[in-house]
Amino acid sequence: MQDPILWAVLIGVVLGAGGMALLSVRFHHRRLAALRKNYLRECRAMLDLLPQRLYRVDREGRLTFLNRPLLQDLGLPLSACLGKTANDLHPPELAEKYHTDDQQVLSGKTLVLTEENIVPATGEKRYVEVTKMPVRDETGAIVGIQGIYWDITPRKQAEEQLRQAARVFDNTMEGVMITDASEKITAVNRAFTKITGYEEAEVVGKTPRIFKSGRQDAQFYEAMWSSIQTTGHWQGEVWNRRKDGEIYPQWSTISTVADENNQITHYVGVFSDISSLKRSEEKLNFLAHHDLLTRLPNRLLFNARLEHSIERARRNQKSLAVLFFDLDHFKNVNDTLGHAAGDELLRWVARQLAEMVRAEDTVARMGGDEFIMLIEEVDEPSNAGTVARKVLELFKQPVHISRHEFFISTSIGISLYSADGNDADTLIKNADAAMYQAKAQGRSNYQFYKPEMTARALERLQLETALRRAVEHGELMVYYQPQVDIISERLTGIEALVRWQHQQYGMIPPARFIPVAEETGFISTLDTWVMRTACRQMQAWRGQGLRLPRLSINLSIRQIEQTDLTTLVAELLDETGLEPSFLELEITESLIIRQTAQAIRAMHGLRSLGVWLAVDDFGTGYSSLGYLKQLPLHRLKIDQSFVRDITRDPNGEAIVCAIIALAHSLGLGVIAEGVETREQVDFLQKQGCDEVQGYLYGHPMPADDFIRTYRHLLE
Ligand code: C2E
Ligand code: MG
Ligand code: MG
Repeated sequence: MQDPILWAVLIGVVLGAGGMALLSVRFHHRRLAALRKNYLRECRAMLDLLPQRLYRVDREGRLTFLNRPLLQDLGLPLSACLGKTANDLHPPELAEKYHTDDQQVLSGKTLVLTEENIVPATGEKRYVEVTKMPVRDETGAIVGIQGIYWDITPRKQAEEQLRQAARVFDNTMEGVMITDASEKITAVNRAFTKITGYEEAEVVGKTPRIFKSGRQDAQFYEAMWSSIQTTGHWQGEVWNRRKDGEIYPQWSTISTVADENNQITHYVGVFSDISSLKRSEEKLNFLAHHDLLTRLPNRLLFNARLEHSIERARRNQKSLAVLFFDLDHFKNVNDTLGHAAGDELLRWVARQLAEMVRAEDTVARMGGDEFIMLIEEVDEPSNAGTVARKVLELFKQPVHISRHEFFISTSIGISLYSADGNDADTLIKNADAAMYQAKAQGRSNYQFYKPEMTARALERLQLETALRRAVEHGELMVYYQPQVDIISERLTGIEALVRWQHQQYGMIPPARFIPVAEETGFISTLDTWVMRTACRQMQAWRGQGLRLPRLSINLSIRQIEQTDLTTLVAELLDETGLEPSFLELEITESLIIRQTAQAIRAMHGLRSLGVWLAVDDFGTGYSSLGYLKQLPLHRLKIDQSFVRDITRDPNGEAIVCAIIALAHSLGLGVIAEGVETREQVDFLQKQGCDEVQGYLYGHPMPADDFIRTYRHLLE
């Protein structure tokens, strides 16, 4: 029973009313004293509960009071602090500072300071606002100092954050635009100005609608706003207009800012200018779908367009045509005039083809010297033929590149939808097969696809792969055919002719695989192999003490136009030990007609080595012969087609006579090939032909057979 009032009541009851008055006065005093004591405790408790740090010092700077939070900061009990000065509790510089402050306060000033403090107990950094004021006694004299510390760290941090945000806002590369809830612009940053061209003052208070480019329709903006309203967020590409009127793409993020009641107060738009990104995207897109050299669509784009067109043709029950082009002997241009000229030629071809088609048609480059054309709405197959003829006609004009004038032709294959295929791949494949057929037909012509062509194209492909392995597998051989003096029938020469004994297909004639080798560039390897094998064979025979005749070797145009032919031949002669005067190289008339600088240089180079040069299949070129004089040639070989005409066709005979006369007038020797009958020999002999070669004297045969048959003539 502690309550004094209850006590009073109880005692009052016990002692009676007489003593009550006295007792009650005493009680009153005791109660007041207790309350006062309690009051002091309450004050202390209250001061200890304040978050502010409070202290008092006397005039000498001795601590007379500290509240509990301050003691906790100091990490000391009250007893260790009371009566102590700043010098006792703080490092010297700090104590010095406090001392200076105190002097000012003792002179009557109230100081309000903002300081950065380290809490001694924890080492933690803290921002404080300190008020130091004088403490006066009843007379007004200053007896000490009272200090109050307010912890303002959270506020400082918030301020710092704001400052940082402002820095980000100002320095970010992204444009930032803030509007209020009614979509009036309230702030923009520097990047905004840089991107849009508008200064902040020009746009504040306006709505972002002033930037609209009109590129996106109402539906676009409806969807955008609906997303912002429902999710508080939208992101996407927007085309806006800059101040100077330019329309540009920007990548935008729009977010809402809501207050505590979830009411939208602001919209924040952050955007970046993606025009350069767009440009590279477009560029990439262009690169992916175009050929850089000619700027024509590439295979990928062509396929896509073809598929599209097939779809349309199917719906409208129309036809369409695919024309596949391959330039004839393009590799020669590259090899002789260089790649720059080759590129120039491809660009020329691309321009010609692109100019001649209608806008709805497509010309593309498939790669290398292959082009392809899509012609829509072909009513009749003959329409495609007309286009092909126009292209062939176009190629009849001379091309001028790198100060050279020359002619180029193309072989064209045509496939039609839907007769030759229902899908893009098949149509392209079949046009390609038809193109090979056009090549086989002597180039510079066009062919429509026929089903049997696919089989041929397949075979050709297999041939190409097999040919590359033929050398390693030892499937290639050299056969030798005698050339004899027409009068004495003495062995004057041996022509080396390549043979391919394929494991599966048996003997493949050169007429089948030489064109493939020429197309693929494998011909150089092949011709070099033949030359080396034949030269070695000759030296082997010589080693057996045999008298050597001249060795004739066929060279392809490709091989001759190759830069280092002279070096190659010199090396081969050196390697095999064969003397140059025993070697004759047969080149074709077409090469002579073309007269490329490279070929002429090669001929002079070979001549200077001491090698002989003959023109094979002479008479088939139907060309002016004046230039023959300037070339370092030794012999003409009359083509066997004219020899076959002897006794059968007066025209052929006339040509044979003319060639022999021409050769002699130029001081060249002449040999007739493909001689099979005595009558032919008689005629040739009468005309003064020097030598003959043909089945009448001997078939081409393997080295062993050859030497067995002709050893007696060489001993
Ligand atoms: P070519 O240089 O005009 O060779 C003559 C062709 O006529 C040879 O055909 C030969 O076997 C054939 N022949 C020879 N005598 C007679 C005959 O009395 N009657 C008939 N009907 N034909 C005869 P082959 O061996 O099939 O060669 C064909 C062509 O292939 C050659 O024509 C030549 O241009 C080319 N060739 C052959 N070997 C090589 C080679 O190693 N390299 C290159 N680049 N081409 C070669
Ligand atoms: Mg020949
Ligand atoms: Mg020939």
